Amino acid sequence: RRLDSRSGLPAGLLGEIQTPISTEPMENVYEITGELGRGKFAVVKRCVEKISGKVFAAKFLRKRRRGRDCRAEVIHEMAVLEMARNNARVVNLHAAYETDHDIVLVLEYAAGGEIFDHCVSEELLPEAQIIRLIRQTLEGVHHLHQSNLVHLDLKPQNILLTSLSPPGDIKIVDFGLARKLGAVGELREILGTPEYVAPEILNYEPITTATDLWSVGVIAYMLVTGESPFAGDDKQETYLNVSQVNVDYSREAFSRVSELAVDFIRKLLIKAPEDRPSAAECMSHPWLWQQQQICLSPDPTATRPFRERSCGTKWAAPPEDPED
Ligand code: ADP
Ligand code: MG
Repeated sequence: RRLDSRSGLPAGLLGEIQTPISTEPMENVYEITGELGRGKFAVVKRCVEKISGKVFAAKFLRKRRRGRDCRAEVIHEMAVLEMARNNARVVNLHAAYETDHDIVLVLEYAAGGEIFDHCVSEELLPEAQIIRLIRQTLEGVHHLHQSNLVHLDLKPQNILLTSLSPPGDIKIVDFGLARKLGAVGELREILGTPEYVAPEILNYEPITTATDLWSVGVIAYMLVTGESPFAGDDKQETYLNVSQVNVDYSREAFSRVSELAVDFIRKLLIKAPEDRPSAAECMSHPWLWQQQQICLSPDPTATRPFRERSCGTKWAAPPEDPED
């Protein structure tokens, strides 16, 4: 593995944190009340701060994995959360504890669960709600990218909601695979879940912010169709579907979906990373803009027409001034 000559850490890993890691038993401060989720190396439990009654999510991260000391990876995950502290679309890090086996991140609680549940449910969300969630996801991603952070594991399981019904605001979680770009030249890694990762990851090509935009395209596809665009019967087939960008845009899959939604998704699920729009460019795509006026904005001054300028795959920003 390539190491950063200054920090001695693997490329893209951050080593400095501000949040103190307490060795006091966390049970003194919190009552643990149940399990919220589970991954390969982490368990997330619901907990209540005794003094305030406030609910948090405690992510227990194993310090040793496959016989290797992974404390640096956990510190990195904390450092990324700290860097994203003023990003309203990212879950907040409240405190940290250390036990013999784990480092525990006490996180802001997202009570509405994963948007994944809305991708596999019988009843999909109305398009206006999907647009709102995709907008918020793009805001969060844009903010991360401005700090040269890439998430690299964006998927419907890692986008949570603050409340379930009606669906609240999104919170991005799980920065275990996130990386800081730019410190030590290029970053290439085999990461993430094949179903959701971009072709450049599978092909071991350089990782950029565009890698996250591919995943936003996958998430949008899943929210509007209820289907995973690249999932095959096995890992091989999934790999092939991703690298050939084998996507079903047929009528059946998109029967109740607007043309603009299809256009938005098509522009993100593009093989060449440099041909995908940035998060900022996505935010002015007409799908997110027109529908928002029609469906979400009761403000009549906001109902101005979208004007498209021809500039390749890029989109013109909505006009600032309604009189303009
Ligand atoms: P992993 O690295 O194991 O995937 P995550 O950070 O994604 O760990 O957490 C696993 C699951 O736990 C999430 O998919 C979600 O269902 C739940 N979870 C994580 N963080 C929170 C939170 N802050 N609030 C509520 N549920 C959470
Ligand atoms: Mg996860």
